[in-house]
Amino acid sequence: MSAPVVALVFALAVLVTTSLRLWLLTRQVRHVARHRDAVPADFAGQVTLEAHQKAADYTLAKARLGAVSLMVSTVLLIGWTLMGGLEALNQWVNAQVAADTWGGYARPLVLVGAFAFIGMLLDLPLEWIGTFRVEAAHGFNRTTPGLFWADWVKGIGVGLLLGGPLLWAVLALMKGAGAQWWLWAWALWIGFQLLVMLLYPLVIAPLFNRFEPLKDEGLAARVKALFARAGFQASGLFVMDGSRRSSHGNAYFTGLGASKRVVLFDTLMQRLAPDEIEAVLAHELGHFKCRHIPKRLALFAVVSLLGFALLGWLAQQPGFYTGLGVRPNLDGGNEALALLLFLMAVPVLAYPLGPWMSAGSRKHEFEADAYACQHSDGKALARALLKLHEDNASTLTPDPLVVRWTYSHPPAVERLAAIRAQTPATPQAA
Ligand SMILES: [Zn+2]
Repeated sequence: MSAPVVALVFALAVLVTTSLRLWLLTRQVRHVARHRDAVPADFAGQVTLEAHQKAADYTLAKARLGAVSLMVSTVLLIGWTLMGGLEALNQWVNAQVAADTWGGYARPLVLVGAFAFIGMLLDLPLEWIGTFRVEAAHGFNRTTPGLFWADWVKGIGVGLLLGGPLLWAVLALMKGAGAQWWLWAWALWIGFQLLVMLLYPLVIAPLFNRFEPLKDEGLAARVKALFARAGFQASGLFVMDGSRRSSHGNAYFTGLGASKRVVLFDTLMQRLAPDEIEAVLAHELGHFKCRHIPKRLALFAVVSLLGFALLGWLAQQPGFYTGLGVRPNLDGGNEALALLLFLMAVPVLAYPLGPWMSAGSRKHEFEADAYACQHSDGKALARALLKLHEDNASTLTPDPLVVRWTYSHPPAVERLAAIRAQTPATPQAA
């Protein structure tokens, strides 16, 4: 691979993916704005015009911020690569750190650390605007500046503690494990993912939120009965203080093996009736019962294996470095450069996978809804979904193509139609 070919292919791929993403954002903005003045017929009498317009305005504001963010990240990507940003950072690190410090590991670790830290600094303004302008303007934000900074610092700490050792181990494999290093690194990466899944609910999530066992006894009995019907053994059902940061409501399933649990946001508890909460939990259980987590993990493992194999090959091509604006170090030791260039190129290379992945995710959501209809009250699930849409100001009129390409969850109109088709006309006995 010659450097000019790499540079040309990369520049074209960035141009194509950025234009596609901008075009999709524009379609979403036009579609939502066009349907702003009337509640869609399917939701007449269930959603007020005021709530519908609030959702439209929020969606438009987020899409505008998304467009700015896309432009900024594209400029940064080109700046780091073709314009020589990473080359300059590498030269700077080489000038500051002696080659043999920490057995040769200091240079690559400092390079990746500095790259990540600069990236976090550059992301800050848009994150700040997202939280304190967009979310705040639509009445959702409850994060204080103090909490924002505390989260930022904790995020760096978690990144250093988890990412530092992982990076060191991958660098060691790249240096010492021979031509098949990428296979070992892949195995390590999968092991790391499983470890994080196991530790996340026990160690990481509690750094950011408080989790308490469900106190409401009536609801707890209802949920226990649901878990028993489903044959589900979880270490528990926890209520999380999501209201610390935002008034958006949610519920999720997390953990692995003994650490698996269901988490309800306190904001959701305040808004939904007990039968609606039960239906939402039945949906989450549906994800578990349909084995969506192992399925996703298996897919992730296959895609990452291909990724590591590609990295193993690219790291040996001088054109990969010079084509993306970096001169390989003369004394070898280009592992960190290869990793960083690859991490920047991956989102561009993997963009065509996006629609396929989100279609798989939407299929899983339909399956979880179907499970909830069988094991709890479909009508309650429909009511809960509508309330969640309203509380999160999710638009009821997204652009159909944007949904097909990017939505991880089906739009309300499709989900409610599927639920209706599976729910008997008279309410089920609970
Ligand atoms: Zn779901």
